[in-house]
Amino acid sequence: MNERERLVEVADGVLVITHPFCATTTTVVVGHDGRECVVVDPGVTADEIDALATALASRGLTVTGAFSTHPHWDHLLWRPSLGDAPRWATDAGAARALAVVDDNARKARAAVEEVDTSGLGRVVALEPGAIVLPWTGRHVRVLEHRAHAPGHAALMVTDVGVLVAGDMLSDVEIPLLDLEAGRPWDDYAEALDVFDEVARSVAVVVPGHGSTGDGVELRRRIDTDRAYLASLPLEGEGDPDPRLAGAADWLLAEHEAAGRRVRHDLGAQ
Ligand SMILES: [Zn+2]
Repeated sequence: MNERERLVEVADGVLVITHPFCATTTTVVVGHDGRECVVVDPGVTADEIDALATALASRGLTVTGAFSTHPHWDHLLWRPSLGDAPRWATDAGAARALAVVDDNARKARAAVEEVDTSGLGRVVALEPGAIVLPWTGRHVRVLEHRAHAPGHAALMVTDVGVLVAGDMLSDVEIPLLDLEAGRPWDDYAEALDVFDEVARSVAVVVPGHGSTGDGVELRRRIDTDRAYLASLPLEGEGDPDPRLAGAADWLLAEHEAAGRRVRHDLGAQ
């Protein structure tokens, strides 16, 4: 199947493609004119991104904007084939992306062969506190929060209620806390509150890794993530999160580290 066929229209003018590496998603938001689009977190291999660019061109779409949900390498990829439109990130996300270009390049090359790391620093900072993308094609809200990574933000395509969640609200990954933050556990809980506030308007949720879901599924994921956070201080008591069953070693290691950190922080209060 080629990339054009793998582009799934999850709502009117919102296309999602899912890549084999970590079930990573790329989202394309088509403008109201049907001729321009914004690409969110293009991934993963150079060939995949080039094929995406070809698929978009074959639909008559020009990339006139892009967005990085957060400054981890798999959300900062780019290829010349996508053109030279601005790729926005939150103010904090862009600053972090620029500070960790070399580190991100190392991580990318360790994780994936055939990855192009040349665009990892290709970010334009939004105004601090920006709540909407500076893109005239369609109204897209920016929902910034402090969880998972500095400057993490979800996008909301308001007219169709599509929430592009970045590395939040996954059905295959547990909540991954930003352990470099001062209060990662509280940050994550507060981010879930942000999603709870908009949940009524959401018809489709698109996680950065995993499957898309409807509004009911979004509620279920928020509840599951809250239950996961509540379980972290308990050190293995209670029901294990279903996403940990058969999970990869790196995910289990993140889980162990998060538990240690949360128990430490709570004990220190
Ligand atoms: Zn990711």
